[in-house]
Amino acid sequence: MKYVSTRGGCAPVSSAEAIKLGLAGDGGLFVPDELPELSEELLKELCGVTYYKRVAKVLHMFLCDSYSYEELEECSRAAYTEVKFPGGAAPVAKLNDRLYVLELWHGPTAAFKDMALQIMPRLLSLALQKTGESLKALILAATSGDTGKAALEGYKDVPGTKIMVFYPAGGVSSMQKLQMATQEGENVFVQAVKGNFDDTQAGVKRIFSSEKIKSDLAGRGYMITSANSINWGRLAPQIAYYISAYCDLVATGDVKLGEEIYVTVPTGNFGNILAAYIAKRMGLPIRRLICASNSNRVLADFFESGVYDKNREFFLTISPSMDILVSSNLERLLWFVTGPEDTAGYMKSLAETGKYQITPELHYELCRDFIGLWCPEDETRAEIKSVWERYRYLCDTHTAVGLYCAENYLEGDGRGASGRKMLAVSTASAYKFASDVYFALTGVTAEGAEAIEKLSEYTKTPVPAPLCGLEQRKIRFDPQAAIEADGMDGAVLAFAV
Ligand SMILES: *Cc1c(COP(=O)(O)O)cnc(C)c1O
Repeated sequence: MKYVSTRGGCAPVSSAEAIKLGLAGDGGLFVPDELPELSEELLKELCGVTYYKRVAKVLHMFLCDSYSYEELEECSRAAYTEVKFPGGAAPVAKLNDRLYVLELWHGPTAAFKDMALQIMPRLLSLALQKTGESLKALILAATSGDTGKAALEGYKDVPGTKIMVFYPAGGVSSMQKLQMATQEGENVFVQAVKGNFDDTQAGVKRIFSSEKIKSDLAGRGYMITSANSINWGRLAPQIAYYISAYCDLVATGDVKLGEEIYVTVPTGNFGNILAAYIAKRMGLPIRRLICASNSNRVLADFFESGVYDKNREFFLTISPSMDILVSSNLERLLWFVTGPEDTAGYMKSLAETGKYQITPELHYELCRDFIGLWCPEDETRAEIKSVWERYRYLCDTHTAVGLYCAENYLEGDGRGASGRKMLAVSTASAYKFASDVYFALTGVTAEGAEAIEKLSEYTKTPVPAPLCGLEQRKIRFDPQAAIEADGMDGAVLAFAV
């Protein structure tokens, strides 16, 4: 298997090179030129092994050109330990006979990005060795909240790397800000940027495509690479947890091997749901993917109309990690269903006019696999309360967007006529968004540490360890010191010393 660019403008590379480079030279994203097959036999075999082995086996299917199985198992074992993921890495909770929740927030930062970012630095370290790289890796990331913290935790004090994270000053929660401002590690830097997530992400993309900055950095001994979900090393580990969840449902007898299920994913940059799509294409029995958006419903409109149009009002919502108007990984989906020429055309149109329209045939094809739904702000709060009241299940704002869409979809699905079960993905701990969750439950406002404490008292549920005592930690990176987006280049050069 080789990795090619979604825009078809560069020669194929190995998996180690794809992980090292992050973004393809023509501005496209790396994709595997074929998809491995997940046979029923293999699925059965995976049902019988622990999480880290499931991950290793799935990763090996994609990375075996560069990595040995033993290396991948060692990376995976070290990433998903009981210490880092107490109680298991990707457990499935049952709400009722048709509705299940895949909890992806038991890691060090209490959000799903840990699932990939605990293992990705290990894959990158090996990739640097395997490709004979003499430069050190400078990881650059744009974050709307959770990626940044998870990347910082994953890369902190990893030898041969430095990491710099940019976030939109007005676009992350106070808890996310505090988590990043207090980040530890000798090789890290966190920088607030004026504007919204798309401005920040565009800034990082600009740096990645600037030959001038890249050669300046090389002169200082660094090469830049990304920790964003545009890096294949982020995406590949995410495929594993869909397969793992399915195995768990089989193991408990809730699903028969081969039985098709629905999957709902609260979506922002389209990375998480793309991993589910790839699992489906490999052969995991998924009937349909429900792409759940908040009020920034550019994806719901896209799946409805076949037109992707980012020229619209941007909303700051209570699910900030999904406040995105340009979902980068959608480009990979387009490549999977059309190929490089059309994809390059759509991306050109997006860059020039902010929109593109896919053909009716393509739209029809996508609608067989996807439906895009969205959840307004008030309904998000109502869902948190209603899920708590009906199931005594505590969910965060992003998960609530997903659950609302999942429940609506099931309801429209002939009230169980198909009997098909729904796996809804939970992407963050409720404590990460304690203030909004507590308000949704009680109508009472509380901020920061107080909100966490009150939420725990009210629901009698424990606070995840990584979110305890944050207010007592030292602020290392001042959230007030936001820079302009066009000053990001300079900030990178200043850090690369
Ligand atoms: C990143 C994130 C999302 C969106 O995931 P994508 O892969 O960008 O679609 C949803 N919820 C939470 C809590 C996140 O951190």
